Amino acid sequence: MPRVNDMNNKNILISGAGIAGTTLAFWLKKYGFNPTIVEIALKLREGGYAIDFMGAGYDVALKMGIADELKKVDIDFSKLKLVDKNDQEKGSMNYEKVKNLMNGRAMTLLRSDLAKTIYNSLNNEVEIIFDDTIQQIEQNTGEVKVSFKNGNKRNFDLVIGADGLHSKVRNLVFGDENQFEKYLGYYTSSYTINNFSIGNNAFSMYNYPYKQVAIYSNSRNQTTAFFIFSSAEQLTYSQRDIEKQKQIMRQEFENGGWKCHQLLSALDTTTDFYFDSVSQIEMDKWSNGRVALVGDAGYCPSLLSGKGSTLAMVGAYILAGELKEANGNYQQAFEEYEKQFKSFMEKKQKSAQSFAKSFVPKSSFGIWLRNLVFKLMSISVFSKLFINQFKDIGLKLKNY
Ligand SMILES: Cc1cc2nc3c(=O)[nH]c(=O)nc-3n(C[C@H](O)[C@H](O)[C@H](O)COP(=O)(O)OP(=O)(O)OC[C@H]3O[C@@H](n4cnc5c(N)ncnc54)[C@H](O)[C@@H]3O)c2cc1C
Repeated sequence: MPRVNDMNNKNILISGAGIAGTTLAFWLKKYGFNPTIVEIALKLREGGYAIDFMGAGYDVALKMGIADELKKVDIDFSKLKLVDKNDQEKGSMNYEKVKNLMNGRAMTLLRSDLAKTIYNSLNNEVEIIFDDTIQQIEQNTGEVKVSFKNGNKRNFDLVIGADGLHSKVRNLVFGDENQFEKYLGYYTSSYTINNFSIGNNAFSMYNYPYKQVAIYSNSRNQTTAFFIFSSAEQLTYSQRDIEKQKQIMRQEFENGGWKCHQLLSALDTTTDFYFDSVSQIEMDKWSNGRVALVGDAGYCPSLLSGKGSTLAMVGAYILAGELKEANGNYQQAFEEYEKQFKSFMEKKQKSAQSFAKSFVPKSSFGIWLRNLVFKLMSISVFSKLFINQFKDIGLKLKNY
């Protein structure tokens, strides 16, 4: 086994300080590599949507020693309440029961809490450059020459794109996003709303045909609005044009009833507005020479899989582990990373595609049927079936 610090190709640039990028940096550092992260944002993103976190991602968190820290920010929803336009309960899912069925190995976290906890685990031992991005990548057999937007130029042994669904690294090295994007027929938006109390750890969801609106809160007085709407066609807007995205949201939900009016008013003041298509990334290969992709950048399964963060962490764990096992031989490591994880990911993507067909009910009957499914889930045998979906069966993590 190679000694720590003996690794070849030690200097590794990671684009993106999200879930995958920071997890990768954690493991690379531990194995004796020298990772550097470049993050386009001024600082770590705050607020944001809640994610279910369980299965293999939970195992990676345990291995990193951060599971206890994460438990402290676990949002303890008592139940998910399905409501009608008059805020009357029409069904519910008992979150506590679901967590018990997972033997406590499940959490609900704000994405930003997960990202921050992983980031803190780096203990300031990894160089992180905020407010910058890769502008150009040129690779030859011996190194990767990187030009940054701020004008700096640096050489690295390897570059890993962990920069999310709209990855810049993928764009520069593998080609245009539209070659790889599979649009699943929905748009989603999420943002923190101030001065809107619904009590602690509450979660209500309202549906009307083609649309879903939810409000949830944690015990730190943070309330989040979360929307999904279906759209057969992809919409035209720029990723940078936040005003246009807010305008789309107002048009889509202005006649929604329930609390839509108040939630839309908060668009004027929110500071963490998020809007995007619900899409997957499908690629034949996750690496090209000395450059590879991890997390949403390479294999985004979409929010419909309910596992994007988990799988971002698992991919990072495997990629770092294989680089260690190959003593930095990147060709061998990248090949092994795909061999272990790619067909598994493809199955997860396929099941999210099937789920997309019925995710947001398109009629009142569909909403009634969905409420019935939730009622059935409170019966033990059905809840066990539901839980099996989340157990990441078929992926056993190697110990590196
Ligand atoms: C509404 C919603 C709900 C979800 N629910 C769940 C859930 O329940 N369970 C679950 O497991 N997953 C869920 N997900 C998916 C999950 O959030 C993602 O799969 C996960 O965040 C992917 O991690 P990542 O590190 O690959 O990408 P990200 O978390 O997107 O991180 C990418 C990072 O790269 C940075 N970046 C972007 N461009 C550049 C650039 N050019 N240069 C440098 N840095 C850049 C970004 O600022 C960001 O910090 C959900 C997603 C959404 C949108």
